Amino acid sequence: MAHRVAIVGAGPSGFYAADGLLRGDPDIGIDIIDRLPTPFGLVRAGVAPDHQGTKAVTRQFDRLLAHPNVRFCGNVEVGRDIGWETLREVYDAVVVATGRVIDRRLGVPGDDLPHVWGSWRFVAWLNGHPDFRAGPDLSAVKRVAVIGNGNVAIDVARVLAKSADEMAKSDIDPQAGAAIAAAPIEAIDVIGRRGPADASFTNNELAEMGRLSRAVALVDAASLDGAAVPAGDPTPEKLRKTKNLDILRGFAANRAGSKPVALRFLFNTAPQRIEKGTYDLVVTCIGYGGADYPKVKGVFAVGWARRGPSGTIPTNRADSHAVAQQVLSWLEDRAPKGGIDPLPPSTDAEGWRRIDKAETAAGAALGRPRVKLTDWPSLLKVAEG
Ligand code: NAP
Repeated sequence: MAHRVAIVGAGPSGFYAADGLLRGDPDIGIDIIDRLPTPFGLVRAGVAPDHQGTKAVTRQFDRLLAHPNVRFCGNVEVGRDIGWETLREVYDAVVVATGRVIDRRLGVPGDDLPHVWGSWRFVAWLNGHPDFRAGPDLSAVKRVAVIGNGNVAIDVARVLAKSADEMAKSDIDPQAGAAIAAAPIEAIDVIGRRGPADASFTNNELAEMGRLSRAVALVDAASLDGAAVPAGDPTPEKLRKTKNLDILRGFAANRAGSKPVALRFLFNTAPQRIEKGTYDLVVTCIGYGGADYPKVKGVFAVGWARRGPSGTIPTNRADSHAVAQQVLSWLEDRAPKGGIDPLPPSTDAEGWRRIDKAETAAGAALGRPRVKLTDWPSLLKVAEG
């Protein structure tokens, strides 16, 4: 009899954990459980809709879903439909891959005003997540503040800055795309609390901001004066920061007014309070918290649930593979429990394929990669076939 492992969370770190487990034990049985009827977690709901190259990683995950030992159990919420305790009793090990999807608050007066949006809520809306159907009213938004100096801030600023043509090949939710295209946006400020050398943007993502058709990337040259990375041996981190400073110097040479939208990078600017009127929309991109899970023997966390909200999708591959090794070592001298199937009826891989087919067909009609189903009843109806 083979061991059976439950992986809670069908995002990249969960799939990479499944991959690592199967590489170490081709007979192992794996149930990938997710509260949504669709797999892929942050790749579907968090990666920016215009970064289709990044989203293409799902092809690898689709292959895992087709593996005979892997079962997808969507529309099952741990804590609501089944308890952690039951999972621990029935499965030989439990892997927590639930990510971090709670927007961190700025913690300054005004951070709860209606025009202040956390990046998770905002990006989930762009991506057609069924729990985040209501977006901000952009009909009178001229000035936007994007708080944070990481790649999520870049994603948010870029999607707001891009023209409808530039988003045409994306899978942005059509209503969100139309709202952005119609918004009278004139200025987007990306605001970092520390200096330009401390920003955590990656080079390609920052450089892309200099190639937008309707927005000009701007930096006040004075804010780069004296900015330098500490001397010493070149490390990848140092090279990244040095290249970022070069890119920002290029932005400093751009001419304000040369394109309709001013996309300005402001540094050493820590928000003290948010008031109505300064900006019409504020999107905070300052990291995420996560829901709790039992930290006991036989339960292993991967990805953002384990490390916190940092690292790209490839980071999760190495991380999840390493944890999979720990799971396999844990299972080595344990007899398989062989328990009954504890899960309530769920959306399986076949149901997901039906959703996928419907979404890609709807996308093809518009020349887009997909148009997502964005409400629970439609998702469940299509999944049932
Ligand atoms: P991040 O890189 O950690 O950036 C978070 C930013 O929030 C930092 O600039 C941080 O400033 C700032 N911040 C935190 N608390 C703040 C506060 N109270 N006030 C003002 N600023 C505050 O994280 P992220 O942008 O959320 O991205 C998460 C991970 O996903 C990263 O590893 C990122 O590279 C990855 N990601 C990758 C891509 C891509 O590859 N295209 C796209 C999106 C995300 P300090 O540095 O001063 O703390």
